[in-house]
Amino acid sequence: MRNSPQSTEQILRDTRRKIYSGSVAGVYARRRVAMVWVTQILFYGAPWLLWNGRQALLLDLAHRRLDLFGLMLWPQDLLLLGFLLLLIAVCALLLFTVVAGRLFCGYACPQSVYTEIFLWIERWVEGDRLARIRLDSRPMDARKFLRKAAKHGLWIALALWTGFTFVGYFSPIRQLAQDASRLGIGDWQTFWIAFYALATYGNAGFLREQVCKSMCPYARMQPLLFDQDTPRVVYDSARGEPRGLGRELSAPAQGRGACADCSVCVQVCPTGIDIREGAQDLCIDCGACVDACDQVMRSLRQPQGLIGYADGGARPQSWGPRQTWARMRRPRVALGGAVLLLLLLAFAGVLLRSPPARGLQAAATVVAAPGQAS
Ligand code: SF4
Ligand code: SF4
Repeated sequence: MRNSPQSTEQILRDTRRKIYSGSVAGVYARRRVAMVWVTQILFYGAPWLLWNGRQALLLDLAHRRLDLFGLMLWPQDLLLLGFLLLLIAVCALLLFTVVAGRLFCGYACPQSVYTEIFLWIERWVEGDRLARIRLDSRPMDARKFLRKAAKHGLWIALALWTGFTFVGYFSPIRQLAQDASRLGIGDWQTFWIAFYALATYGNAGFLREQVCKSMCPYARMQPLLFDQDTPRVVYDSARGEPRGLGRELSAPAQGRGACADCSVCVQVCPTGIDIREGAQDLCIDCGACVDACDQVMRSLRQPQGLIGYADGGARPQSWGPRQTWARMRRPRVALGGAVLLLLLLAFAGVLLRSPPARGLQAAATVVAAPGQAS
């Protein structure tokens, strides 16, 4: 994997370089869209769920209590549960990385998911790649100003809604909505809504791939977990080089490789890299270049799979259910799976010890007025 040290000047130059990734259709694009919907329906919807008339999922900071689908957890449980949850998250992420490489980065990481949503808005308002490049190269006029204002307005609205939802996990969300409608939200709620909104707006609207490149510790340690069975997106250089098939369809007979050198795979890459230069630490294995190249190969009536997922080798391979299962039968996967199972059992055990939420009122009275408890 290419991961050469960069000078400060190089990093600043890359940071300033804006990436205009184009839209793409295909099997991996559909999977990314599905993951965006699943994760966002869960995130935005969960705090509105009710359980026996109470918010089902609420870490009530004011009362130092976690309501979890009818279970009521107090600080003594929360410390242990929080610790177990942290271990479970770390173990699950490590195990997932060993099994699936950077698929979490490409499909489920909040940074990728929000960048994808912000890109949808950008394309909807400003157009696809070429239209956005043209718009940015034009001097400011009324039309450009209106488009930019509309894009940023929608970004800010989404970021504020995201911040509001985030705070709704820590402060009753219905009450929060009522307070917001009266412009009467408390100080700490206002601070955290603004903070989370600003982080979403900045990370998904501007920093984008720079977060993966320069800020994410998970991205730095992933290569240590990869082995020969970990899937990565690769370009089949043995088949693709020397490039130039697109210029002459009889090219293979003249010693040309399958790559048409059309650069469509680079144009759709959200991190702006050329996968034909080999595996790179900025590649999040999102599969956009796979879809794009497959489209090109179909239009040239050539076999697909010039770019694809591979495990350790240099050539894309098949990833059907049987092959996936075969690649999962590894000692480190079995060990990680066993540890994760034990942690989940311990977590469930602590949860089952907790009093049900229907005793909440009485318990809250005891905590609020301990001298009157008896
Ligand atoms: S999309 Fe495929 S054919 Fe076009 S440059 Fe990339 S690898 Fe070559
Ligand atoms: S090289 Fe391909 S898989 Fe990697 S980030 Fe770019 S588009 Fe996604």
